[in-house]
Amino acid sequence: GAKTDGRGRYRFFSTELLASAEEKRALEEDLRDALIRDQMRLVYQPIVQCHSGRITGVEALMRWDHPDKGSISPAVFIPIAEEAGLVGRLGDWALRQACEDAAKWPEHVRVAVNVSPTQFGDGTLPTTIVSALATSGLPADRLELEITEGVFLGDTAASEHMFATLKKIGVRLALDDFGTGYSSLGYLRSAPFDKIKIDQTFVREATLPGSRNSAIIAAIVALAEALGMDTTAEGIEYLDQLALIRRLGVSHVQGWVYSKALTSDELRARLDDGRWAIEPSGPSMQRSA
Ligand code: C2E
Ligand code: MG
Ligand code: MG
Ligand code: MG
Repeated sequence: GAKTDGRGRYRFFSTELLASAEEKRALEEDLRDALIRDQMRLVYQPIVQCHSGRITGVEALMRWDHPDKGSISPAVFIPIAEEAGLVGRLGDWALRQACEDAAKWPEHVRVAVNVSPTQFGDGTLPTTIVSALATSGLPADRLELEITEGVFLGDTAASEHMFATLKKIGVRLALDDFGTGYSSLGYLRSAPFDKIKIDQTFVREATLPGSRNSAIIAAIVALAEALGMDTTAEGIEYLDQLALIRRLGVSHVQGWVYSKALTSDELRARLDDGRWAIEPSGPSMQRSA
């Protein structure tokens, strides 16, 4: 039984503990059995369309309920999984679970799943996706893959071939964490993205006086619009950030100002309610200092 819920009240195992190589190795061992021990789960964070206030999709976020250490953040265990060669197995599980859950939601709600560079480079990804869609009955255009710039660092011909294959299957593609890495415009030219996700680190300072980030966000929005792509601003926590992001023309927003990640059932209850629209959290989310 998990000691946690989907609202983000997690007892996060901190990255400091990873200083010890021994502890890292122990975690790696535990991670090997995490799936068969039923310790992994997905939570879903709503993505809200700015002009309508409606939930148009959710992002699937992986959680690991460790029996002794509590809930461990994917920021900690995904890199370990990458190193240990476990990320493919975890990623396949996430794709299948997300499709199965999403098939129970109203049909206008998409599910976005994070795909690590290793999983992207592994030739089995299309087969897994086709199988996950067939098993769940989820239409391909309700599945979005979130991909980071890391996928462009490998074999260019192979990644272009993978993009073409994924487009043929009909899934949507989002470029995640935009603004943090190299953010080469070449990526946008060569890969058929449907959406750019503007990273939260980038948005965070945008409301500060004299910040140049507003100008840059406006330019990203103009670029995305010219290329026919949506934009999502990630990690919006405060009402002033929300107001600014809306003013800059970003099409979608994801962040605690609307909702933390929810369990599949919590999400379904929210959607079944007919409350497609959600309001920002209000005064409790006002910046206090
Ligand atoms: P990401 O894909 O950029 O996901 C967004 C992260 O921002 C999530 O962290 C989410 O909980 C957090 N977030 C959302 N709103 C707010 C906010 O208002 N304020 C703040 N401070 N944070 C917010 P999370 O769940 O800890 O995931 C961290 C990263 O782990 C993800 O970043 C993603 O790169 C990776 N990850 C998560 N699930 C998976 C997965 O299933 N597969 C793979 N390969 N990676 C995953
Ligand atoms: Mg993501
Ligand atoms: Mg992101
Ligand atoms: Mg991020």
